[in-house]
Amino acid sequence: MTEPHLQYADLAPDTLTVAAGRPPREHDAPVNAPIVLTSTYHETRIPEPGDRIYARGSNPTWDPFEEALGALEGSDLQALVFGSGIGAAAAALSLVPPGGAVVMPRHAYAGSLSLAAGLAAQGRFELRTVDIADTAAVLADLDALAERLDASQVMLWLESPTNPMLEVAELAVLTEAGHAIGAVVVADNTFNTPIVHRPLEAGVDVVLHSVTKWLSGHSDVVLGALVTADAGLRDRLLMHRTLHGAIAGPFEVWLALRGLRTLALRMERSQATASSLAHRLADHPAVRHVRYPGLPSDPGHQRAAAQFRGFGGIVSIELESVAVADALVAAVRLWLPATSLGGVESLIERRRRQRAEPATVPETLVRLSVGIENAEDLWADLDQALRRAVGGPDTEL
Ligand SMILES: *Cc1c(COP(=O)(O)O)cnc(C)c1O
Repeated sequence: MTEPHLQYADLAPDTLTVAAGRPPREHDAPVNAPIVLTSTYHETRIPEPGDRIYARGSNPTWDPFEEALGALEGSDLQALVFGSGIGAAAAALSLVPPGGAVVMPRHAYAGSLSLAAGLAAQGRFELRTVDIADTAAVLADLDALAERLDASQVMLWLESPTNPMLEVAELAVLTEAGHAIGAVVVADNTFNTPIVHRPLEAGVDVVLHSVTKWLSGHSDVVLGALVTADAGLRDRLLMHRTLHGAIAGPFEVWLALRGLRTLALRMERSQATASSLAHRLADHPAVRHVRYPGLPSDPGHQRAAAQFRGFGGIVSIELESVAVADALVAAVRLWLPATSLGGVESLIERRRRQRAEPATVPETLVRLSVGIENAEDLWADLDQALRRAVGGPDTEL
């Protein structure tokens, strides 16, 4: 583990992205931790707790990234990096005791919903999906569960804003209600990143990231992470990672830390451009509806403004038909038609073309992940593609 020669708690998130997880300040030492490629470690005595023995359990390349992400989320403990976001989700769900229940947003990330639904179908736990923006309904659901189940059999899974509907939950209120019935509360913070929101400060027990997205930021790795400030929970999650083996390759984690160093700048730029595009799209004749918490007319606007330090870099738009939505995605030249999000390059995708996407997500919804290109170039490309998609004057497909 790298040496915390700084008081991380005193530093702002944008400083932490750069300063946390550096090797100790020793003469001649490198300023970046090296990549360590090994499967095993020299043993010259009987190992003691904390010693490295075998690289499924620990790798020195993970530590600086885990230290930086833990500090960024406001925990005194190192994060745990996983081989993917869904690997991290599987570890988090392992905390639910057999016969317990998981409450998830009906518009949570489709992979998390599929994973939980599969476990529920095997009888591992009961899965309940809720409209996470409807606080009263979620509280009623938790109360109903508390009448049937013992304390601590419930997991409340939060994702806010949701992917791709961008609904905003009241995290602190829901977390408090979850804790009142003994639930473990998990928050998928992939969309916001700790630059925009730190769920541990709202009382959440475990924060989940698809590091694949904004944290690494260059669409070149698949990784996940969990962060908690509870040492007992961290031990259980670490045990799950070691025994189920969803571990990360050292090169990927090194790339993720390199990407993390510019997270604050990338988020600032993506959010500013997303906001300007959302306002302009709201006035575009080819666009039926814009979902973006930064728009004052958005149902999640007040909540997002009260809880978050920004509105994120994802905008969802609804078109007049599936044909127009597909034509839009086919007509862009600068935006990349691809799934995933959070990279430096702007991506565009009609979500419902994937079978796993919940049926309550509109067929005509197109999700935009706003990168760091010039905002006017991005707008010009969207505008020409929208006009061609609806068969306007510029049509030459
Ligand atoms: C992509 C994503 C995941 C899954 O992460 P992977 O790295 O793809 O396994 C989980 N949650 C959200 C919100 C995501 O966008």
